[in-house]
Amino acid sequence: MNRPKVQGWCPGALRPMMSGDGLLVRVRPRSGRLTAPQLAGIANLSLTHGNGFVDFSNRANLQIRGVTEDGHEALVEGLRQLELADGSAEAEANRNILVTPFWRSGDGALDIADELADRLSKCPGLPGKFGVAVDIGQETMLRQCSADVRIERAEDGRQLIVRADGMDRGAKTSVDTAARDATDMARWFVETGGVTQGRGRMKDHLQCADKLPRSFAPSMNPARSAAPPLPGICDLGFVAGFEFGQAHANQLKLLAQEVDAFRLTPWRLLILEGSDHAPEIDGLIVAADDVRQSVSACTGNPGCLQAAAQTRPLARQLASHVPAGRHLHVSGCAKGCAHPAATDFTLVARDVGFELVCNGKPGDRPVLKNLAPDQIAISPNMIFGAG
Ligand code: SF4
Repeated sequence: MNRPKVQGWCPGALRPMMSGDGLLVRVRPRSGRLTAPQLAGIANLSLTHGNGFVDFSNRANLQIRGVTEDGHEALVEGLRQLELADGSAEAEANRNILVTPFWRSGDGALDIADELADRLSKCPGLPGKFGVAVDIGQETMLRQCSADVRIERAEDGRQLIVRADGMDRGAKTSVDTAARDATDMARWFVETGGVTQGRGRMKDHLQCADKLPRSFAPSMNPARSAAPPLPGICDLGFVAGFEFGQAHANQLKLLAQEVDAFRLTPWRLLILEGSDHAPEIDGLIVAADDVRQSVSACTGNPGCLQAAAQTRPLARQLASHVPAGRHLHVSGCAKGCAHPAATDFTLVARDVGFELVCNGKPGDRPVLKNLAPDQIAISPNMIFGAG
């Protein structure tokens, strides 16, 4: 069985990761928001220094693909001019903050995120993937998204809580104290041995660590969880996306001509702020029932060095066959980057063909093995009839 290599860190702009199509440069816009000039600037940098493709990540970030080693320095300088680069690689890595894209002006989410970025940049020893979710809308939206510390609205709809991931309940906090409390929780995690060889997650640590300090004693339930948005109109504008969460720079430039500001989401969709209609841009997904919404697929071969096969051609062939209301994930290896959570049907590439997992994640026990892509494409029912 080919096992994916666990990197234990996420790429950034200052510390990119080598992939099958060149350097992968991740841009972390503050609070997941971009202005039109910033989006157009990223598109131009992608055309100049990358291969023109830009990914939307499940951390509400953007990834510029195919960057050349020679072009990396100039690209970072371009990002600095757009106010999209941090002062150091460590500050960038520690600013792993996911803010609910449904924040409202004056609700405190952006203030908390700004203060958190500052505090976390001075918090040494955090593991590469350690993250904080700022999820303070009336309903929580980020419960399924990876985070170690969660700042959420309490069940009463008024107060805020800070909750260690893995605990059902959290401790009372407020807009004024949430960033400090979350950083204190991160420090506690480091000081009590949550990090081993640069890795570690809060949920795992809580299995073996001493009880949380009294100041974090969990006493309040978080607000109920809401379903992620779908393409179409929402309270803040229009939700739209691209096939497999990847756009070409030319599509982004067109988008930047149509809308003033964008919110990135961890569902690889964009909120076009203040827009009440779908811009006419080729390839833009604007309808909730678009069949491209029923499939996820990672970069696969040849863009990812760990992939055992191509993924997107197969996902494209199968998209129209996915039963209504179900989801298919095609993954190039067991890491499952495109859809880490369980889904109805998951095809995982192995050296000897694809495996099918039903109602599970890549890496779970398969119900079928050694499936050739051609065979699957000709008989989609062998997949969708198995679940
Ligand atoms: S899931 Fe896909 S993108 Fe992620 S490491 Fe595996 S092959 Fe690469």
